[in-house]
Formats: sequence, C-alpha cells, structure tokens
Amino acid sequence: MFRIFRIYLIFRNFNERSQPFLNRLALPNKKKVPLYYERIPKPIDLPHIQSNIEQGTYKQPKVFEDDLLIMFSNAVKYYGISSPEGVASEKLKEHYYICKQRQVEKLIAYVGEQNELLRGFVPKTEPVPVVVTKKRGKFKQEQVEDIIRCICGLFKDEGLMIQCSKCLVWQHIECTKADPAVENYLCEKCEPRKVDYEITLNEFTEEGYQYYISLLRGNLQIRQTDTVYVLRDIPMSPDPNDPKVQPRKHTYETIGKVDYAECDIFRVESLWKDKEGRRFVYGHHYLRPHETYHEPTRRFYPNEVMRVPLYEVIPIELVIDRCWVLDPTTFCKGRPVDSSEPHVYICELRVDKSARLFSKISRHTHPVCMKSYAFHKFEEKLKISKTFAPHDLGSLAHLLAAKDNRKKGSKKDDSNSVASSASNTTPKKMTPVMQLLPPPPKKRVH
Ligand SMILES: [Zn+2]
Ligand SMILES: [Zn+2]
Repeated sequence: MFRIFRIYLIFRNFNERSQPFLNRLALPNKKKVPLYYERIPKPIDLPHIQSNIEQGTYKQPKVFEDDLLIMFSNAVKYYGISSPEGVASEKLKEHYYICKQRQVEKLIAYVGEQNELLRGFVPKTEPVPVVVTKKRGKFKQEQVEDIIRCICGLFKDEGLMIQCSKCLVWQHIECTKADPAVENYLCEKCEPRKVDYEITLNEFTEEGYQYYISLLRGNLQIRQTDTVYVLRDIPMSPDPNDPKVQPRKHTYETIGKVDYAECDIFRVESLWKDKEGRRFVYGHHYLRPHETYHEPTRRFYPNEVMRVPLYEVIPIELVIDRCWVLDPTTFCKGRPVDSSEPHVYICELRVDKSARLFSKISRHTHPVCMKSYAFHKFEEKLKISKTFAPHDLGSLAHLLAAKDNRKKGSKKDDSNSVASSASNTTPKKMTPVMQLLPPPPKKRVH
C-alpha cells in the first residue's frame, strides 16, 4: 500500500506548490450550499482521501484512483468545465496521470504484473493510458463520435465544417474563416494563434448594423441562444461635483459584487454592433415565480423561471454573466458541460405579457446538445417536484427582497402596490435602457 501513498505524496507535492488548485477542490459548506450535496452523489475531498490512505481503507490502488477521479469529476460537474474549479481539476487529473505513470512500473516490479491487487489499475496488456494516443486517419473513425469544438462555443452541426488534422475536432468554417481547401487544417489549440471571438454573420442593415454569432463583453463571450443575467436599471450615485448631470447607469464594470437573484434572466436571440461600434443583445426575458401573478396556492420548482414574450434590446455592458435555462426533461437528464449548477434554471411554462396566464411550452426552441462531449448525463435521472411557493413563510425572503427594492426605488413602482387579488408580490418591471424595441430589420446578403 505504501506505493499508493507515494503516488499520492508526489501528487500532493504538486498541490502544495499549487495551493490555489487544491483550494478549489475543497468541499463547500453543507449548510450554505445544500444544492451541492443534492446534486453530487459522492462528495469527496483530498483530506478524506488522505485519511482513507492513512487508515488503510483502500485495499486496492484502483479504489484510491476511483475516489480521486470522482473528486475531479465532481468539480467539473457542479461548477462547469470552464470554471476555475473545472480547470483546476482537469490540470490536477493530468498531473495525477503523469505521477501514476512514473510510479506504476515500480509498483509492477514490486508486486508482479499479474497480481490481483492491480486489477483495474494497470491495464493488463496495453500501456497506461497517460497520453491519448493519436488516432490516425480513418482508423476507428466509425466508432469515435465526431466532436464539434468551435471558437463560437456552439455545437450546432450545420453549414460547412472543417476538421483539425491533429486533434480531430470539427469547427465551423463560418466561424474560423478557414480555407476549406487547405490540406492539413489545425485548430486554434493545436496551432495557437490570435482568435477573434466576435464572429460576424453575413447579415447587416443599411443603417450600419452588423449582426454577430458571438460578441465579447470584456472577456465574456456571449453567443446566440445563450441565457444570461442582466443587470437591472441601477443608477450610480450622482456626481457631487456636478449634481445636475443625469447619473450614469451601473454596468458590469461598475456594479461590484452582484446579487444574481436581483438580475433579470434573459435569452439572447441576436447580437449586433451599431455604426458607432456599440454592442447590443436582443432577446426575451424569463420571470421568476414571485414576478408573476398567481394563486397563493400555486407551487413552483425551486429554481423555476417562466418564459415571457417581453422582448428587449440591451447594451451588452448590462450582461453580467452566463446562466442556463433548461426544459424539465433535459434538466433531469444532466447538464451542459460548461454549466455551473447554482446558475441552472428550469423552464416548463410560458406566461403572457401581463404575467398572469400560464401555459405549458410544448416545444423548446433552444435544445441543448446532448452529445457526450457537450453534456454530462446523470447516473440517475433527477426527481424534481414543485415545492416552492413564493407565498409560504419560508419564501418570505423573496418578498422582503422585493419590498426592499421598492423602497430603494431601484425599480420603478407603478403605484398599485397590491398586485392582484391573488398575489401580493410586485409585478415585474422591465428596466434596462431601451424597452421593447424591435430589433433593426434584418437583411441577408448573399
Ligand atoms: Zn462555430
Ligand atoms: Zn486541434
């Protein structure tokens, strides 16, 4: 068993040099983040693994390795593959395999290759799968799933595509502007180069609007079909030197710490730059339960949102972050690999503009890519139930927050504080700068 410990120690040493990585994999507080413990069937951290080693719980290296890999995949599943936690675990996993490779020969020499102890840990004939061996040409092409990994971040299997001759991912020609005739195309990872993440569409208007597949808001790439948090209309405090000047509005750069529960949830349908180069997103809102009119007895999923046909043009600076809105079937099946669990919502219903009439959405217009490289399937489907009632005492916090806002005046109050006979909650205000403008007319140029 001491060999496991050696692999572990070497691995751990790496951690000590990279404390931030290690910290990322600490388990969250059970009381503060109960969601983590609902979603992750086997929460495990490094101190736990270490104590298992010390107490001799692991009878076989494979069991130790399984725990380590579960720890890595937990972080990716809960926080998303591109989150700091996801990146840290991918790095550590890579490092673990290198440590393992170095130790495994000594381990074999010590216990013998055929030893039952090594079952599952060291593959019998093949070498340790440390570095993924290059798959050449058409070999295995039929079995291996074609992977789409484009600079746009979208998985749509449409239009002309080109394959990286090294890592074999497929990319959209429209996005990469690659020459389809090129012999050995290499993706931006295999041949690092400067990439423009603002990807134009062949759509513009006479008024000088240029449409995009994706635009950047600072470092955040926002794509068509993304759902995002949008900052409500929050004025900055007036300039004391010049109090007469209309105070400016907060943007993602000025707002500081954001309370996501106070942001609007918004589906991006199109993006464009105007003649001056200002960036805008256009799309529709989702409402949270307390923003709708409903019978006090009505219950919702705890993280439910309702699609509402309120369309709006929003300056991109008001987009705060990405979030994920899934239909109930998808929600129960698993998660997009880049999703972060605290920011995943479920949407089953639509409401009308007045937020009074509820109806079931029969067809979801933005299906999630369910390919294994884009989607983590849960081992067991989630069982969900409508337990959340905004009028329950337990949910009072929502109401208080809403009232607080009215006091602060951050939402315009349209007077009749009693929203409806059935509901005492505040009706939703559409606040960001331009309200309900249609997007500029589209023109496709061939
Ligand atoms: Zn693309
Ligand atoms: Zn590549």
